[in-house]
Amino acid sequence: MTDSELLFEEVAAYLKPKDVEHIRAALEYSEAAHLGQFRKSGEPYVSHPIAVARLLTPLHLDAQAIMAALLHDVVEDTEISMEQIAEKFGKSVAQLVDGVSKLDKIEFATREDAQAENFRKMLLAMARDVRVILIKLADRLHNMRTLGAMSPEKSERIARETMEIYAPIANRLGLNAIYQELEDLSFKYLYPNRYAVLSKALKVARGNRREVVSKILESVTQRLEAQHVPALVKGREKHLHSIYRKMQTKSLAFAQVLDIYAFRVLVDDVPSCYLALGALHGLYKPIPGRFKDYIAIPKANGYQSLHTTLFGPFGTPIEVQIRTHEMHKIAEAGVASHWLYKSTDTPFKDLHTQTHQWLQSLLESLSQSGDSLEFLEHLKVDLFPDEVYVFTPKGKIMALPRGATAVDFAYSVHTDIGNRCVAAQVNFELVPLRTELRNGDRVEVITAPHAKPNPAWLSYVITSKARSEIRHFLRTVHFSEAISLGERLLGQAFTSLGRKLSEVDPLCWDRLAKETGAKSRDEILADIGLGRRLNMVIARQLARVGEDGSGEQANTGGVVTIQGTEGMAVQFAKCCRPIPGDPIIGVIKHGQGLIVHTHDCPTLRKGKSGVDKWMDVAWDKHINRPFEVSIKLIVANQRGVLAKVAAAIADAESNIENVHFTNEGEYTALYFTLQVGHRQHLARVMRGLRGIPEVVRITRVKSVPV
Ligand code: MN
Repeated sequence: MTDSELLFEEVAAYLKPKDVEHIRAALEYSEAAHLGQFRKSGEPYVSHPIAVARLLTPLHLDAQAIMAALLHDVVEDTEISMEQIAEKFGKSVAQLVDGVSKLDKIEFATREDAQAENFRKMLLAMARDVRVILIKLADRLHNMRTLGAMSPEKSERIARETMEIYAPIANRLGLNAIYQELEDLSFKYLYPNRYAVLSKALKVARGNRREVVSKILESVTQRLEAQHVPALVKGREKHLHSIYRKMQTKSLAFAQVLDIYAFRVLVDDVPSCYLALGALHGLYKPIPGRFKDYIAIPKANGYQSLHTTLFGPFGTPIEVQIRTHEMHKIAEAGVASHWLYKSTDTPFKDLHTQTHQWLQSLLESLSQSGDSLEFLEHLKVDLFPDEVYVFTPKGKIMALPRGATAVDFAYSVHTDIGNRCVAAQVNFELVPLRTELRNGDRVEVITAPHAKPNPAWLSYVITSKARSEIRHFLRTVHFSEAISLGERLLGQAFTSLGRKLSEVDPLCWDRLAKETGAKSRDEILADIGLGRRLNMVIARQLARVGEDGSGEQANTGGVVTIQGTEGMAVQFAKCCRPIPGDPIIGVIKHGQGLIVHTHDCPTLRKGKSGVDKWMDVAWDKHINRPFEVSIKLIVANQRGVLAKVAAAIADAESNIENVHFTNEGEYTALYFTLQVGHRQHLARVMRGLRGIPEVVRITRVKSVPV
C-alpha cells in the first residue's frame, strides 16, 4: 500500500465519508501544486505533507487539521496564495495553513536558555490554535526523521532548534511520544558518537535484563491480585536522551542509570492508585524521599501519576508510575487527547477538577457543551495572555507586557534609546511611537541625537521602566531649564540695579545659600525660574555685599527676551496663545515658572490667572519654531467647505493641530488650532481664508476657556 492509501485507511476509521472526500481533494490539490518538486532525499515533495498528515491520524485530529497538514507547504513553496486556499477549502483550513507558514518564517538563532524559553512562548502565543502547533510538531518530526539527507551544518542547526524549542513544546503540551522521538533524533544529530555508543549499550543491557524484569513483573502482578486491585502492569523503557540527561545531571555512569528498573501500573480509578501504592510499598521497601503525588498536584502540562521508587529484590531500585487508564491517555496524548478520545467523554469529567488550570479550562468547555466547535474556539485563546514577544533588529527576543508600545520597547532596550526615540519601524514599516506591539513583530527604534522624551508618552506607555525613566528625564530637564531661566531673570534684575551678575563673588552665593536654606546656587536659580523666589529680592541680597545701596538707581531697561525654546520653564498661556509679533507680558507663577500672555488677554485682565508677579518680556529677534494659535470661522453650510478651508490653510503653509465645530442653523462655527511662525504668518493664513466665498467671518480667539 502507498502512503496516501494508508492515510485514507487511517482517516476513514474515525472520520465521516464526507470529511474523507474533502481530505482527498486537499491531497490532489497538494500533489498538483508540488508537482515537479523533490525533497533532498529524491522523493517527490508531496511525500512530506502526506507523512505529516499521517503523523496526526493517531491523534484523531479533525478533517480541517489533516487538510491543513497536506497543504502546509503549498503557499510557502508554490505560486498558490492563501486566498486561493480559503476559496477552495474554507477559511478555517486557510487559517491553519497560514499559522503554520508564519511559524516557519521565524528562525531561532541564539543559544541563550532564557531566549529559548521566550521563543517557545512566542511560538505558542503566535499559533493561537493548538492544531497549528500540532501540525508544526508533526512537520518537524518528519523533517527530523529524514534529516540524514541534509548537510551536516544544516542538520545540526535543525537538531539544535528541535532540542531547544520544539521538543520542550511537545513536552509542555503533553505529547509524550512526539516529545521523546524529537529528543532522541536531536540527540542523534547533535552527538552522533554518544548516541551510537549509548544505543548499542542499551540494546545489550535490555537483553541481559529481560529475566530480572519478568521476575519483578510477576511478583508485582501477583501482589496486586492478592490485594484485589485490578491492574495492568508493564515494563517501561526510558528514551535514550533521558538516560543521557540523567547521566549528565547526576554524574552517573551508564551502568548506574540503567541499573534502574521501570514499571507502569494502570488501574481503573483514583482510589485504586493509592491502594496499588500501598500494596507495592508492602512488597518492596520504598526509598525515602522519592515518592511524588502528581495526582493531587498535577504537572504543568496536565500530567498525573503517582511516582515511587522501591528497593528491588536484588538491591536495585525499581521506579514505578501508578495512574488510571484515563490519566495514561492524557499522559500519552496530552492536549491531543480531546480528538483522540472524544467518543468517550466520561474520563474528562473526572479529570477536569484535577488537571492543571490550563488544560482544565480547555476540558471544562468540552464537558459543559460537548461541542467540538466551541472547544476549538476555546483553544484559540492565548496561551500566554499577559505577554507579547518581539524581535530586536539583531534577532534578540524581548518579552513585554501585553499592550506595550514602541516607546516601551525602546526603553526596554536601553534608557538612552528611549530618551532619544523619535519614530519606530515595525516589520520595516514606519509607525507612530504609540503603536501597540504584537507577537512576532520586528521592532526597530529610530533615534535622533537631540530628541527628548515627550510628556505625552506618559499617557500610553505601560511598562514601569519607561514610565519612571520618562518622569526622571522630565524632572531633571525641568530643573536645568528652570536654572537657565532663573539665571536670565536674575541677570535682568542685576542690569536694572546697574550691576552685572557675572561679577558676583562666589562667597556671596555661599552666604546667600546659607541664609535662604538652599543647597546650592543652582537651586536658588531654579527657584527663581520656577517663580518660588523673586529675582529682584535675590539680586538685592547678592548685591548688598560691599555695597551701600548706591547701586540701586533706577535702571529698569532689563527685559527678558523669549525665544520659545526655553522648554517647560517658559510656557505660553493656553487662554490667549501669544505668537511672535504680539505684545506680550510675563507672569511668574509659583512653582510653574514664567507664563507668557498677550497684552490684551481677557483672562489676565480679569485677574483669574493667580498672578504672583508680572514681568516685562519681549520676543527674541530670531525665533524659528511654530506656535499654536486659535481662530474661529463662521462659514455657510455648503458641501465641501471644510475641504476648501483646510486647503487654504495648507496653502498658507500652516498645520491644523485641532478642529471642532458647532452648528448654528445655516452657519457653522469652526474652531481651529493652527501652527504659525508669527503674526505675519497668521495674517497670511487669514487672508487666504477670506478668499473663500463661504467664509462669513473670521476672528482670532484670545479667550479660550482653560
Ligand atoms: Mn513542511
